[in-house]
Amino acid sequence: MLNTHWHFDHTGGNENLGKAGAIIVAHENVRKRLSTEGFIEFFGMKTKPEPKVALPVVAFTRDLTFHLNGDELVVSHVPRAHTDGDSIVRFRKSNVVHMGDTFFNKLYPFIDTSSGGTVAGVLAAVDGVLKTAGDDTKIIPGHGPLASKADLKVYRDMLAAVSGNIRGQIKAGKSLEQVIASKPTAKYDEVWGKGFLPPEKFVEMLYKNLKK
Ligand SMILES: [Zn+2]
Repeated sequence: MLNTHWHFDHTGGNENLGKAGAIIVAHENVRKRLSTEGFIEFFGMKTKPEPKVALPVVAFTRDLTFHLNGDELVVSHVPRAHTDGDSIVRFRKSNVVHMGDTFFNKLYPFIDTSSGGTVAGVLAAVDGVLKTAGDDTKIIPGHGPLASKADLKVYRDMLAAVSGNIRGQIKAGKSLEQVIASKPTAKYDEVWGKGFLPPEKFVEMLYKNLKK
């Protein structure tokens, strides 16, 4: 079993699966974060160290290939994206890519700065998939509906446009309140603003992330 990153909504099954004998695999930073106390600053959320049975048994730092069910699964670490331990999985034969939380489809993404995440890293991860995916590749986001390459491109363009706008305003010395008041997400809110992060929260997150 593979963890795409350490967040509890993607690792919460580890303990039960570990007890059932599953071999848990993840980037080494996932193991590090799961084995110590965690803190997601943006939500003020503390997490406890996981019991040993819930920790990845195989911790990798480079690309990894699984030969399973007649398919080849290529796992690649993408540095400093949604967190510092994200993996993207390409199912070569079935032409499927699982992007973990580097891709939120049709809802504003959360980027966990306090776990080493960066906007630039998410954009780089997305660009890597856009380069290798075909028009009929099925792309699984960490949150939101199943997607195509075209959907991923729309996500990339939204994130690049909004973060570029906010970066410009930070350079111009604008405060968080001024940036929120300028509504940099206005034309995207109809499609993207009804999910996990409402528009103002998304802007606040990007502002704090880019200010670092
Ligand atoms: Zn996550």
